[in-house]
Amino acid sequence: MNTTCTMRSVRYLGPKQAFELRAVSIPEPAPGQVRVRVEACGMCRTELHLRDGLLDLGRRDFAVGHEIAGTIEKLGEGVDGSRLGQRVVVYYYVGCGACRYCRTGDEQLCPQPVSQPGFTSDGGYAEYMVVRATNCVPVPGHVPLDLAAPMGCAGSTAVHAGKMAGIRPGEWVVVHGAGGVGLAILQYAHAAGARTIAIGMGAEKLALAQELGATEVFDVATQEDAAGFVAAVTGEGADVVFELVGTSASMRLSTAMLRRRGRLVLVGYTSESFTVHPVELIVRELQVLASVGSTLQDLYDVVDLVAQGAIRPIVDYTLPLERFAEGLAAVEKGTLKGRVVLTPGKANVTAGSPP
Ligand SMILES: [Zn+2]
Ligand SMILES: [Zn+2]
Repeated sequence: MNTTCTMRSVRYLGPKQAFELRAVSIPEPAPGQVRVRVEACGMCRTELHLRDGLLDLGRRDFAVGHEIAGTIEKLGEGVDGSRLGQRVVVYYYVGCGACRYCRTGDEQLCPQPVSQPGFTSDGGYAEYMVVRATNCVPVPGHVPLDLAAPMGCAGSTAVHAGKMAGIRPGEWVVVHGAGGVGLAILQYAHAAGARTIAIGMGAEKLALAQELGATEVFDVATQEDAAGFVAAVTGEGADVVFELVGTSASMRLSTAMLRRRGRLVLVGYTSESFTVHPVELIVRELQVLASVGSTLQDLYDVVDLVAQGAIRPIVDYTLPLERFAEGLAAVEKGTLKGRVVLTPGKANVTAGSPP
C-alpha cells in the first residue's frame, strides 16, 4: 500500500480553537463499514458551537462536518457488494445498538454511542470518511449530491422535529428562524397540510420562504411585534411554534406566539437560557417539547420527500474544502439563503489516489 495516501481534512482540535486544515491518512473501512468519497458536506451552525466551546463531547482532533453526501468507493469485510459505487447521504449517529433507545430506532438518544461522525469522530470536512454501511442512505440519481448533503442534518432534523410536534392539517405553524433547518421545517409543515408563518430576517430570505409555501412571512428587520402579527393572522395564536433562533428573547417571543394548549418545539440554541414564569405555561396549558437530530428513518423519509419534490433543499452556494473558514464566517453572519456546502471530492489533489 502506498504510504503517501493522504487526504485533506479540516480538524477540530478543541474548544475555542480555530479549525485547521491538515493532511491525514486516508481511512480504511473496518468490517461492516464503507469508505465514502465525500462529494459534498453542508456547513451547519453546530460547527460554530463546537468551535466556540458551546458543545463539547470530550473528543479532540477529528474532522468536523455531519451533512455528508458522497459515493461509496470501498467496502469493509461483510458489506454487500451491491453497495459499491452507490451515491449516499450519511446518518451521523452510530448508536450502541443495545440500549432501549437504539432498540427502538432512536439512536440520537443513545447514552453511549459508538461514534458520531463530525461530533466525536471523523466527519465530512475531508475528502474521505468511513462509517457503518447501514448509516449510508441511498440517494436517487436525479438528486444532486450537493443538494442531498444538507438532508443529513438540516433536512432530517426538520422531519424529526415535525414528527415530534405531531403537525395536523389546517394547524397554524410558526417557524421562528428561516435558516437551513427552518426552511426545511416550513416545507415539511406545508406538506403536512399546515398553514405556516415564517419569521426571519431580510426580504430576500423571506421571499424564498414564501416561494417554498409560507402562508405569511414576518421580517424582524423591518416589522414590529411578531406576537401581535401572529395573533392577528391566526385569530388567537399558533398551534405550533418551532424555535430555531435560541436566544432568551426569541424563546420568550415564541412562547408568546402560541394559542392556548399550543406546542413550543425547541430545536435551535445559543449560549442563552430559556426563562419563563411557570404561570405563563400553566394558565394556557402550553407544552414545551424539544427535538434533537433525527433517527435513521427520518433521514430515509427526508430523502424520499426530496426525491418526490415535496421538500426542495436550499443551497446558497458551494465552496472548495480549503475555503471552509469563509463558509463558517457566512454561517455565523446568519444572512445565508439556505446552506453553504463544501465540495471536498471535487478538488482531490493531494498525494496519490486511494488504493
Ligand atoms: Zn444505544
Ligand atoms: Zn447540523
